[in-house]
Amino acid sequence: MERKNVWESYDAKHLKKLEELNREYRSFLDHGKTERECVDTIVNTIEAEGYQELEKLIGSGQQLQKGDKVYSVWMNKSIVMFQVGSKPMADGINILGAHIDSPRLDVKQNPLYEEGGFAYLDTHYYGGVKKYQWVALPLAIHGVVVKKDGTTVELNVGENEDDPVFFVSDLLIHLAGEQLEKKAAKVIEGEALDLIIGSKPIVIEGKDKEKGESKLTAEEDTHKTGKKAKSGKGDKEDKEKAAAKEAVKAGVLHVLKETYGFEEEDFVSAELEIVPAGNAREAGFDRSMILAYGQDDRVCAFTSMRAMLDIKEAERTVCCILVDKEEIGSVGATGMQSRFFENAVAELMNLTGEYSELNLRRCLSRSCMLSSDVSAGFDPSYASCFEKKNAAFLGKGMVFNKFTGARGKSGSNDANAEYIAHLRRVLDDRKVIYQTAELGKVDVGGGGTIAYILALYGMNVIDSGVAVLNMHAPWEATSKADVYEAYRGYMAFAEDASM
Ligand code: MN
Ligand code: MN
Repeated sequence: MERKNVWESYDAKHLKKLEELNREYRSFLDHGKTERECVDTIVNTIEAEGYQELEKLIGSGQQLQKGDKVYSVWMNKSIVMFQVGSKPMADGINILGAHIDSPRLDVKQNPLYEEGGFAYLDTHYYGGVKKYQWVALPLAIHGVVVKKDGTTVELNVGENEDDPVFFVSDLLIHLAGEQLEKKAAKVIEGEALDLIIGSKPIVIEGKDKEKGESKLTAEEDTHKTGKKAKSGKGDKEDKEKAAAKEAVKAGVLHVLKETYGFEEEDFVSAELEIVPAGNAREAGFDRSMILAYGQDDRVCAFTSMRAMLDIKEAERTVCCILVDKEEIGSVGATGMQSRFFENAVAELMNLTGEYSELNLRRCLSRSCMLSSDVSAGFDPSYASCFEKKNAAFLGKGMVFNKFTGARGKSGSNDANAEYIAHLRRVLDDRKVIYQTAELGKVDVGGGGTIAYILALYGMNVIDSGVAVLNMHAPWEATSKADVYEAYRGYMAFAEDASM
């Protein structure tokens, strides 16, 4: 069964919509390079379209009606949105799900050190990364530093043209003979992924003038404070000594204090993520693709959210759940395994006057879900890892994976044939173009999503999404046409699915 390239099927009207959607998508990516930034961007977008915060409605005594729009954020990293339908929720709801965390380098809790004239931040990578891909490219720091008094400093450095960027060094080719003999997994090891964040020793005020020097290097400074120590100026001298010992680190700390108002100890309660610097770009002379960081899985998160906002009147309540921690197993309070989602559904049913333990269980078990995540796009340069008849191709539409998993589908949700047949009807009615795929050739590798977690309620779930090239690399590629078809598919599902 051969699937057509979807570009050939578009008229001018579709192409205009496709470009508009992709412009908005690129802006979404640029504003959401961490799960926290994604949640902020989504809240700003949906509040402007009439969504109200669930927590504010609870206790107000207000009863929700058909068409009402509600959202709930969990710990600033996960979000669930609902649009109330005309049918009772106990009949089931339509759920669009995706994740908003992406592979990256996280800053450790005690990260700052100086070595060989450079100041570094020590990192621990998050999710599955080919470590050699993260060296020698401009990186940005995004995240929060929560101080002991509870105030939060938000950091976003490296994205504006005049921002500084950061980098992880790599060994020059001239000396890399031995390094290049190593296996790719060992060429760059996890502990070698430390970020260079400065190289200028601190200048101790007053000192330079008095000595007629413009700057003091770390070494010079050690000598001079050493001599001066005898003259016994006490406290100030001690501080100078400490700064002189690690003058570059002291210089960076000085900038952090002056510019962002935090100190070395505040790293303990910080969540700082190192991501590729720069905006999402169009790719190809024909501008047919998007090249950007974090498209796994923000491409599905964005298109699901956009569909959610564009649905007119749905009979079934529609839900969009965008979660954190998928890349490390959907664990933790903000991952899909958290009760956060179930609690939000219960609260919503309470506000529509339907809540009972039994109704909640009925609602969840009778729901339909598209668990959306990126699919491995067929890469002609690595064709031997794919089985072409059952591979996802860029430009061939939204992707459905009946199952994922590894070694004989282990760990996978496996969508029911009856459900797939229902979805075929729903999508064909709206002329949505889709393809089916597996994650590579049998036994070459594998992967998982959040699908199996929602399936625990007994609901119908299938993996769907968008094909990506270079998945988990600092820059991932998608086809604009697939972004558009995924959006159209989510619209069709949200409004028409009912099983
Ligand atoms: Mn993913
Ligand atoms: Mn992933």
